[in-house]
Amino acid sequence: MHRQHPELAVAGGSPSFPETLPFVSPPTPSLDRVTELLAPSWDQGRLTNGPLVCRLEEQVALRLDVPHVVAVASCTAGLMLVLRALQPAGPVIVPSFTFSASAHAVAWNATSPIFVECEPETFQIDLEDAATHAGGAAALMATHIFGAPCRPEAVEELGVSAGIPVVFDAAHALGAGRAGRPVGGFGTAEVFSLSPTKPLVAGEGGLVATRDDDLASAVRIGRDYGNPGDYDTRFVGLNARMSELHAAVALASLEELDEHLVIRRELATRYEAGLAGLPGVNLQAVDPRDDSTWKDLTIAIEPTAFGVDRDRVRGALTAEGVDTRCYFDPPVHRQHAYLGRTTRELQVTDEVAGRVLSLPIYRSLRLETVDRVCELIHAVHHHAELVNTAINAK
Ligand SMILES: *Cc1c(COP(=O)(O)O)cnc(C)c1O
Repeated sequence: MHRQHPELAVAGGSPSFPETLPFVSPPTPSLDRVTELLAPSWDQGRLTNGPLVCRLEEQVALRLDVPHVVAVASCTAGLMLVLRALQPAGPVIVPSFTFSASAHAVAWNATSPIFVECEPETFQIDLEDAATHAGGAAALMATHIFGAPCRPEAVEELGVSAGIPVVFDAAHALGAGRAGRPVGGFGTAEVFSLSPTKPLVAGEGGLVATRDDDLASAVRIGRDYGNPGDYDTRFVGLNARMSELHAAVALASLEELDEHLVIRRELATRYEAGLAGLPGVNLQAVDPRDDSTWKDLTIAIEPTAFGVDRDRVRGALTAEGVDTRCYFDPPVHRQHAYLGRTTRELQVTDEVAGRVLSLPIYRSLRLETVDRVCELIHAVHHHAELVNTAINAK
């Protein structure tokens, strides 16, 4: 007979969050503010290519201190159009530990990703590994993982020394800073996402930030089918425009962004304190000079030291009603879409992917709730044997 522990639901106790604690809750701005912003465009019948999109582009360009921001329908479309404009005549270096869209943008441009490793503690692109492949590559992509800057100046340097353009998947990182400099101005271009799980939301949307005049105009034409206005398309583009409705949501969301990011940082600090000293649990390492947006709060669980592996920790939290994610598992090179396209072994990436667990973090989350989630993780460690037995028995 197994000892029953009243505290943990996985061993028969009652769940801490019977109504479930959601993993994410989109930071929707006030609907009144959205309609107030939208009204002039709406009344003029301007649903796309309107003044709100321009205003959003101008405001974000000021904030990021870049000459050009081009609003698009999604970050994926933005990455596709940036690569379309750069016309990489060969494969593109991409970390495998990222969201699939980074690699999809490469594959849609009829070239292939060269998947490279990530670092075990920051989860960011491993630049040493990237450097060994830079010789045969036509471009270099890197993601600011979970909103933490990926040492962008070092990524830039590698691009310069290899003579190839650098594109950042900045989907998580609007509002992030690298040693006091806003993310958005690094490399040839940085592309942000405004989808519901990101810090700034439009509903769906993306923003391309660049210092390159030609690239900015190519993305503007590209989001409009490749049509510069005379209906003689210059290249095969997309319909990737942002509508006025989405821009109104994004502008309202932008007004709240700084306050929102302060809350995310407080929540991250609370998690850090709550999990400090737990053996085998490491929060994503972030350079103390940097500001992460904490788009995700991700820990790595080393099973020997912690006593329970990631999947069972997740199982125990699910039993408590705590919704979590395993970002990014499987890593992109292991996903069906890319099987057979790569023969590289990525040991560190596989190991990181098997250990990561992203915990709830969002504007409406209370600090006391973070404390409770941390207590549950402590309890899982202290009752490791019980948790392992209970989950094995299922
Ligand atoms: C969300 C996300 C994307 C895709 O953004 P969309 O706006 O949904 O196209 C791309 N890259 C990363 C790293 C993401 O997390």
